[in-house]
Amino acid sequence: MSSVAQTQKIIFQQEWGQVLAQSLRSSQQLLTALELQATDFPKGLSQALSFPVLVPRPFVERMGKGDPRDPLLLQVLPLAAEDQLHPSFSLDPLGEQESNVATGVIHKYHGRVLLLAASGCAINCRYCFRRHFPYSENRLGRAQWQSALNYIAQDTSITEVILSGGDPLMLQDERLAELVAGIADITHVQRLRVHSRLPVVIAERLTDQLTDILTGTRLRSSLVLHVNHPRELTPLHAERLAKLRQAGVTLLNQTVLLKGVNDSAQVLIELSEQLFNHDVLPYYLHVLDRVQGAQHFDVTSAEAYTLYQQMLAQLPGYLVPKLVREEAGQAHKTPLHAF
Ligand SMILES: *Cc1c(COP(=O)(O)O)cnc(C)c1O
Ligand code: SF4
Repeated sequence: MSSVAQTQKIIFQQEWGQVLAQSLRSSQQLLTALELQATDFPKGLSQALSFPVLVPRPFVERMGKGDPRDPLLLQVLPLAAEDQLHPSFSLDPLGEQESNVATGVIHKYHGRVLLLAASGCAINCRYCFRRHFPYSENRLGRAQWQSALNYIAQDTSITEVILSGGDPLMLQDERLAELVAGIADITHVQRLRVHSRLPVVIAERLTDQLTDILTGTRLRSSLVLHVNHPRELTPLHAERLAKLRQAGVTLLNQTVLLKGVNDSAQVLIELSEQLFNHDVLPYYLHVLDRVQGAQHFDVTSAEAYTLYQQMLAQLPGYLVPKLVREEAGQAHKTPLHAF
């Protein structure tokens, strides 16, 4: 058996892998599941599917039937608006290809590196700023892992390794454990951070083994979830996240501000409150990266700032995420200010 087939076999033995394998993979499947028709979308659906549809069933089950404006559906259904080119939206809005210092490593900020630990995701989000990133050239096999770890080992200013992707939790737990052990062997690294949307769409991904990996290392671990809407959270999340939190993993969340999905103070406030009820603190609220194909999700900076002020006025300070945008060439995420 090839190693890819072997990996697949092991993943599919896990509950979350089985759920993932049953994902919906076309607009038509989505419409059928939600009792909708293409004509429910006034401007139609996208024809150019260079970035395919991929949506796990548990996420579909949280959508409302017969509602073409469902905020979860809009994150995953390719609308015709995607095919319109816009001059200020680019293929690599963050200039990441320049910061791609070694295969699978993006080093832009002081003290921390992104390690592109896995190339795929469990869900394809239409607004994704990595939708045009050359993942296939950055897939980390074991040999590339070693060169990525070597890069980190030779730079003693690196104190935090951020597992990113794609989605790093697409790795099966055994491989993740190996990678974490490799990182923990580098003495100047103190912190491990995992950025993932997978457990949001498939809560079963929060396995006991994952908790063991994140707590059974000398590294301080945090998990940053990517929840965009309060309806994405379920009772199973509450149960599994409580376990992680009790085991000592810091749980944070980042949200992308998306027109038609969560560009309302009421939704954002409810999201912060729900996150806290799930043991998670809001970390960042990101203004959309200007990636080609995502222009219909854009919320202007002025609108974003107004929403942020409404959150400040109604929430305790610790439930207000930092409102930021990512700018190519900057040494950190850029906070948005009043205009
Ligand atoms: C966002 C990001 C980080 C992490 O930044 P924090 O402000 O520490 O959350 C690190 N590297 C890259 C390339 C990033 O885009
Ligand atoms: S990287 Fe994140 S936002 Fe992009 S498709 Fe994957 S899960 Fe969605």
